[in-house]
This record gives sequence, C-alpha cells and structure tokens, in this order.
Amino acid sequence: MQEFFENLCEIEKLEIKKNQINSAEGLISLLLKRAPRKNVRVLVNILKQSLLPSISQDENKELEELFLEIDKDENLIFEKEVQEKIEQFISQRFEKDKQVIIEKTSDLSKLVFIMEEFLNEAISSSGNGSKNVLNIKEKLKSIDINDGSLETLSMVQAELINAASSIEEEMNKVSNKLQSGKTKVQELEDKINNLEDELKKTKNESMRDHLTGLLTRKTFFEELKRIDSSYERMGTQYAIIFFDIDHFKKINDTFGHEGGDIVLSTFGKILNKSIRDLDIVGRYGGEEFIAIVHFKETKELLLFLKRIKSIVTENNFIYKDKQLKVTFSAGVTIRNSYKNYDEAINKADKLLYEAKKSGRNKIILENGMEF
Ligand code: GH3
Ligand code: MG
Ligand code: MG
Repeated sequence: MQEFFENLCEIEKLEIKKNQINSAEGLISLLLKRAPRKNVRVLVNILKQSLLPSISQDENKELEELFLEIDKDENLIFEKEVQEKIEQFISQRFEKDKQVIIEKTSDLSKLVFIMEEFLNEAISSSGNGSKNVLNIKEKLKSIDINDGSLETLSMVQAELINAASSIEEEMNKVSNKLQSGKTKVQELEDKINNLEDELKKTKNESMRDHLTGLLTRKTFFEELKRIDSSYERMGTQYAIIFFDIDHFKKINDTFGHEGGDIVLSTFGKILNKSIRDLDIVGRYGGEEFIAIVHFKETKELLLFLKRIKSIVTENNFIYKDKQLKVTFSAGVTIRNSYKNYDEAINKADKLLYEAKKSGRNKIILENGMEF
C-alpha cells in the first residue's frame, strides 16, 4: 500500500490527505480523474502542432526527433527531463524566430528604401512623375516595416508587386515617348538638312547675277583676291579682260528691255562657257563684263579672245522671231605688267575706252595689239 501511494502524483497525494481517503472505492474514483491515454495523445498532438514547424529551420529537426520519441510513448511528456527540454525548445524557438523576423524585415526595409530611391529618381527624371508612382511611393513610406507583423509584411509584398508592375508600365510609356521623340528628332534633322541645302543654294544664287548667271561684281572681286594671292605665291599668269557691248542702248530701244535682257544673258552664257575651271567672269555693271583668264603663252590668250569675238559677231542673237547683230569692245591687260591687280584693271578699263573711241567692235591689248 505504501508502494502504491508513492507512485501517485503530488496532486493525488494532496487529495487523499484532504479528503481522508482510505478505502479502495475512494482510491478508484480518484484514479478515474487521471487523463486517459487517448487524451494525452491529443494533448501531445496539439503541443507538437503549436511548436512545429518553426520559422527558424535549425530548430525543426531536433523538435521532430523529440516528438518521434514522444509518439512512441506519450507518457514521456510527463517526465521532468522531457518537459524541461520542451520548455527549453519553446524559449529557444522564440528567440531564433524573433531573430529571423528581424533579419527578414531588415531585408525588406532595405528593399523598400531602394524602391523609394528608385521611385524618387523615376519621378524627378520624368519631370512630374505619374500619379500612380507617386501614390505607391507614399504608401511604401507609410508602412512601418519594423513592427514585423505578418500583416505588415504581406502588405509590403503586395505594394512591392504593385510598384513593380507600375514601374514596368511607366518604363513602357517612357520608352514609347523616347521612340516617338526619336522619330521627331529624325524629322527635325531632315528638315534642318533640307534648310541647309536650300541655304547653300540661296547663298550660291546670291553670289551670281540673276540675269546672266555670272558672278556679281562683289563675288568677282572676292574670287580675284584669291586668284591674285595664288599668282603672288606661284606666278600663275592671268589676263584681265573688260568687255562692253556696243550701242546697247540702241538694242534696248529697238527690241525693248526684254530684248536687251536676252542679249545680256546670251552674252553672259557665251563668256561662261568659254572659260576654264580656274578662270572667272563677272557682270561688272549694266552691259559691262570682266573676266580673269589664265594662260601660259600669249597665243592661248589671243585664241580665247578671237573665239569670243567670232562667236558673238558671226552669230545672230535671237529675240522672239527677230535676229540681232551684236558687237562688243574689250580692253586686255596681263597681270605681271602691273604692281597690283587694281592697276591692271584700271589699264584694261582705259583700253576698253580707247576701243570705243576708235570705232567699237574692237579688242585692244596693252601691247597696242588690236583686232
Ligand atoms: P557704248 O557702245 O558706248 O557702250 O554705248 P551703250 O549704249 O552700250 O552704252 P551706255 O552706257 O550709254 O548704255 C548702256 C545701257 O544699258 C543703259 C541702260 O539702260 C542699259 N542697261 C543697263 N543694265 C541693263 C539691264 O539689266 N537690262 C537691260 N535691258 N538694259 C540695261
Ligand atoms: Mg557701258
Ligand atoms: Mg555699251
């Protein structure tokens, strides 16, 4: 009886003393209050489920092993040693899980921070930023990630997913804008190129006399400077020829201003076609023209002058159905006979005047030669 009494638990011993149980019936009714085995199993299962699985993975294995032992004999849970072990697991598990949560939330904090930075940049680079992105940014800001609750974490997750898809959308918009911007830039570039071409054409046209297509007086002298400097450097010999159409006033009077214009433009074309690449010819004034003609031997120059004279005088100019006879006078000097080109031009002008005075339809050279 003493041995049986020793095997009772503390609460049962107290009950016996308190209620002064000393009969077998009294003991049976006390023992019936003990938890039946099937209830202990239920209790063990509840305990297991509340502990497993743990968030921290290191705990799971040991806990599982312990519960495998308890499953074989659920009475183990009443052993002090096992109970202490479970207690130890519980407190360890809370510590470790807390640690995992802290780590995870700090990762999320970093992610949210990076996301915020990204959104800030996206907003400032797109100027005003879309409302959508701004909203997400505000929401992310308002989340207190450090409270570490699962609810907060899932909220953050939802917002991050939302942010990712919004950013993707924004990116698409930006890339579409860039694409259409690129097309616009291309169009503008084309326009600029066209304008540049037109400007070049206009500039080229402004260098030329409208009626005759020859250089204007201004551009003629610009070109002459260039030619003369190469003459100074390399001695490239050239002649200056002043032309003036004879009795041009009469042509105007007979055939009208329009008829006169046709004569001027035809005369201009003849001169332009007769010169070579290095040579230039300009309209000096109304019916006066000036040419720079390079040559090596004097006979080349004479040939050139004779050819012009024969083309002009041996052909008829045609205006409407009428035929006109045109003659001209010219004065010719050679650059190396003078200090500078101004003197050579003045002398050519004088020789032209002489040609006019001595009967017109005449070319006079500085050496007194005329034809
Ligand atoms: P000369 O033989 O002495 O050179 O006599 P000219 O009549 O040719 O010379 P003048 O200088 O007396 O007259 C030139 C005329 O050329 C006067 C002007 O009305 C005319 N003229 C000037 N520019 C133009 C033009 O662009 N078109 C036309 N049709 N006539 C012009
Ligand atoms: Mg004249
Ligand atoms: Mg004249």
